[in-house]
Formats: sequence, structure tokens, C-alpha cells
Amino acid sequence: MGVDTVVAGGTVVTDTSTLEAAVAIDDGRIVGVGDEDALPAAEERIDASGQLVMPGVVDPHVHVDDHVSIDSYETATAAAALGGVTTFIDFAWQAYVGAESPWDAEAPLRDGLERKRANADEALVDFGLHGGILREGEALFDELPDLVDAGLTSFKMYTAYEFGLSTGYMGRVFDHLAELGAVGVCHTEDDSVCRALTDELRAGGADDPEDYPRSRPDYAEAMAADDAVRLAQAAGAKYYGIHTSCRASAEAIETHREDGSQVRAETCTHYTTLTEAAHKAQGNRPKIAPPLRTEDDREAMFDHLRRGTISVVSTDHVAQLAASKADRPWWEGPFGANGLQVSLSVFHDEAVNRRGFSYPFLVRTMCANPARTFGLATKGTLDPGTDADLILFDPSATYTITAADNASQADYSIYEGREVTGRPTMTLVRGEVVAEDGEVVGEPGHGEYVAREVPDWRG
Ligand SMILES: [Zn+2]
Repeated sequence: MGVDTVVAGGTVVTDTSTLEAAVAIDDGRIVGVGDEDALPAAEERIDASGQLVMPGVVDPHVHVDDHVSIDSYETATAAAALGGVTTFIDFAWQAYVGAESPWDAEAPLRDGLERKRANADEALVDFGLHGGILREGEALFDELPDLVDAGLTSFKMYTAYEFGLSTGYMGRVFDHLAELGAVGVCHTEDDSVCRALTDELRAGGADDPEDYPRSRPDYAEAMAADDAVRLAQAAGAKYYGIHTSCRASAEAIETHREDGSQVRAETCTHYTTLTEAAHKAQGNRPKIAPPLRTEDDREAMFDHLRRGTISVVSTDHVAQLAASKADRPWWEGPFGANGLQVSLSVFHDEAVNRRGFSYPFLVRTMCANPARTFGLATKGTLDPGTDADLILFDPSATYTITAADNASQADYSIYEGREVTGRPTMTLVRGEVVAEDGEVVGEPGHGEYVAREVPDWRG
């Protein structure tokens, strides 16, 4: 009995090893990994010689098509496909009312889920959604069980901005998440510290992007992280520290990890590759929160990736135009930077080429760990029976990153001019080739919403 496709001649990378092997695909799933001669005959043979064959990247932190990010599902998933990302997790937002809100009326989180799914018809790669809790109220608690059933098994909470939650309310959310087994995903920066410092800097006339990191310091991130982890632990809930940027915050999280089973954290590609110098060099373009940090903080991301405090590398992809970042007082410009299309190349170059981390480490931090952490049982792995989401990666292809190549609506790159070695050359989502040699070849609409399971973090 034959199969649809075999990817042969390459070096297969899993989260634990590398091996010379072929991968057999049938009906969108992986059906075998092993010696090509031992696999069933295939209708199509993809030649992977000279290439690595890896699970597609699972990016658990991506912003698409909403008040945060101007990318549509078509443009963001094109960037994903070109970058070797086969699944990402975006956000379903709970509408709130406020000065910076895009909504004029409050609405249940369920509406945010439906809004996002309705706008995702043109997806090329698969996607899931985190629930985003943007205001306090009792009604949310009644919604949570249905949202978890609908595949939102993690919920984002902010400690900062006008939609930040009080610590008391966050504690109550964690109680409910603990009952459901769902994950609390926390953006931690102490709001009053950041506001006071921002006000002081602005009153003193500081208006240069290079002043920005001082307005949101590392200790403000660590303070809020410490509070949030303690709340999660008091409730017995799973805690995920999103976009960890600095040594102080990683240490605060590590203090509470104990056996490591219920407290996890990610960092983002940019915190592992850029420093606060980029705020000076690139002006408003890399304005993100938390800010880019010091060289020591960048080192700390690798220290904690080694130690396991941080187990995931994401992008926090946000698409903005350079002009909209620049067309208002600098402090009021939008947050966020795009990175979906180049994240794997940039992190691979930094971690594997420059620092000697292994390919299985790359697969763990960018594929397997994010999938397991967020209940994506069929993603992030090449195990038989799982989705045939895989990429071919040429470890010796050298290229220079430029926004001219962006599939995202964003018209700049914080990595502009960076030369990297290693590049995805083919991306398959459930057995279909969606990108090849820098071109999108898949049909928009191939990508599907993935209802995530409640993850088991004990293993
Ligand atoms: Zn984000």
C-alpha cells in the first residue's frame, strides 16, 4: 500500500536527536520515519538532500488582524509559511471600553473568538487562539468552561496598560483556570512603576527613543512577575510568563519553579539577538514592551534557556507601518515589531551557529515545547500519527534580511541588514506544500483553526 509523499535524503531533527532518515506522509499525517527503503512507496518524492527536515515552528505568541496588528490572516500566514512556521497562536480579545480601546461597547470574550475565526478564512497555516482578558467582571467566569471546550485553553492577562487587571482579580482568574486546567499567560510589568517613570521622563523633556528602556525597567517586570507567579501558585494554576526579557524577571520566575511542573516561561527572538542599542539606532521601530534590554539580559536569556526556566522562543509578531510608528509623539506611538518570517533563521543563527546549541534544542524551544505547553498534541513533532507539518531547512544558506522581502504588511524589519546563515526552503502544512524557495505556493484557506486541548504539564 503506497503513501502520498516521502521526504527523503535529508537529516531528520527531532527534539532529542538527529538522524539520516526519510519521512512518509499520507493523508496529511506522518505515517513513518526511517530508512527510505523500509517505508512504503510514495506517489511523490521530495528530495531533501543537504537539508534538515524538522517539525514546523509553533509560535505561541503572534498578533494578527486586530487593534494590535495590521496584518490580515493572509499576510501573516504568508509570512509564517515563508518562515517555516506551521502553527501559531493569536489572540481572541474580550472587548472593553477605554480611551485606547477600539471597541465602543463591552462584549463577551466569546464574541472575540468568533470575530477572529470569521476573519481567518485566508489562512495558509494552522492557528489557535489564546483568550485575552481585558477587563474585570463576574460574567467572564461563567464563560470560561465553554471557551476551554472551544479550544481556548490559555488566557492572557496584563498587569499594565489601561486594560491591565488588578492583582486581586488576577488571583480570582487563576482560581478558575486551576479548576479547568487552563494556562494563565501573563504580561508582567508593574503598571504604577512604569507610569511614574514615563511621566517623570516626559516631564523632564526626554523624547528620544533611547530613553524608552528606562521607562519600563527590568525590576518593574520582575516585580510583577513575582506577584503573578505567586498568585498562580496560590491557586494551583499553570503559569506561563510571556515575553520574558531580562535576568531579573527570569530569576523571579526561577525562584518559584520548584519541580518545574507548573511554572513556564518564554522569551522572544528579539530579546536573544538585540539590545537596547537598537532603540537608539532604529528610533521608534523596535518600540516594544518590555523594551529591549542590556547585553547581560540577552546573555541571561540563554542562561535560562539552558537551565529550563525559559523553554520557548516566540516572536510576539506585531505588524505596523514605519509611518504610523513615527506620525505622533514618540511616547504615544504603537508598540510591537514584526518577526514571524525571519524568527527561525535569526534564532537559529544566534543559538546554533554562534553559540553552539544543538538542533534538537532548536526543535525543543521553537516546535515541541510550545506545542506541548499549549495543548497542540498533533503539532511540533515528527512522531507518526501527528500532522505532517514539517519544514526543509538549509543550514548553509546565507542571506541578508530586508523588509523588501516581507510578506507581512509591516514595511520594516528590526533585523534589517542582518546576515544570517540557515533558511527554511520548504514548508508543509498537513502534507501540503505552502511555501517553497521563498515563494508562497499554498492556497489561502488551507490553514485551519485548531481547538487546543487542556495541556498536561506534569510530563
Ligand atoms: Zn504580544
